[in-house]
Amino acid sequence: EAPPGPILEVRGVSKGFGGLVAVDGTDVTVQRGSVTALIGPNGSGKTTLFNLVTGAMRADAGEIWFDGRRIDRLPPWTRGHLGLGRTFQVTRLFRSMTVLQNVVAPLPDARWRTMLAGAVRGHEADRARELLGFVGLARFADQPAGSLSYGQQKLVELAQVLMMEPKLVLLDEPAGGVNPSLVGRICDIVRGLNEQGVTFLVVEHNIPMVLGLCDPVVVFSRGRPIAEGPPAAIRNDPLVLDAYLGE
Ligand code: ADP
Repeated sequence: EAPPGPILEVRGVSKGFGGLVAVDGTDVTVQRGSVTALIGPNGSGKTTLFNLVTGAMRADAGEIWFDGRRIDRLPPWTRGHLGLGRTFQVTRLFRSMTVLQNVVAPLPDARWRTMLAGAVRGHEADRARELLGFVGLARFADQPAGSLSYGQQKLVELAQVLMMEPKLVLLDEPAGGVNPSLVGRICDIVRGLNEQGVTFLVVEHNIPMVLGLCDPVVVFSRGRPIAEGPPAAIRNDPLVLDAYLGE
């Protein structure tokens, strides 16, 4: 079987803040169809790398290629339309809007339309309700997003990202602050989407979750990868243990 090839290539990318080098001439490749993990100690540059890939920040040097195109000069919304989605460590929902309104919010003009009309109708609403069903939240569609638990809000944000039909989703600590009973469900949802062809890059501190869900695992330390491999190899890698013990 031929390898499917990369969907994301970060090539020699650097980003500094004043005198601090957060991402240091880094190469990272995400293979199409994978659920790739990015782990490493606090401050090792994982979030900065996400920000560079999505366009929230601009790299000082290097190139970023997504789905066969160079994207590092494109604005974030263009990257989104090309099929690059992301969730945030702390969700960014409109708490007083309904769950359904939040899910359609990223569609062009949807936010303003739904605020005026108060209700989401038609094809977009059907798709949004279908996605809410998929993440197990259909019954909350018409409740304010702020009334849901933190973990449920993370799933609403995932449904919101899926509304854009992404090819690659960057998940920023999907299990962080989430009730343990929801963590297993989040893993099942990611696996289900992956089977449908969605690729994932996951930053996550819950190491058992990472080792059970992701392959390969990329380990970051001081702004660059120090190890990469299947979970079984990463678990016993002395460099990895060192990086974590040195935290
Ligand atoms: P991680 O996500 O692995 O915890 P980050 O990418 O958040 O790491 O941070 C990497 C380094 O860059 C840290 O030293 C952090 O303090 C610094 N950093 C991140 N974002 C900024 C910023 N906007 N301004 C200044 N320093 C930042």
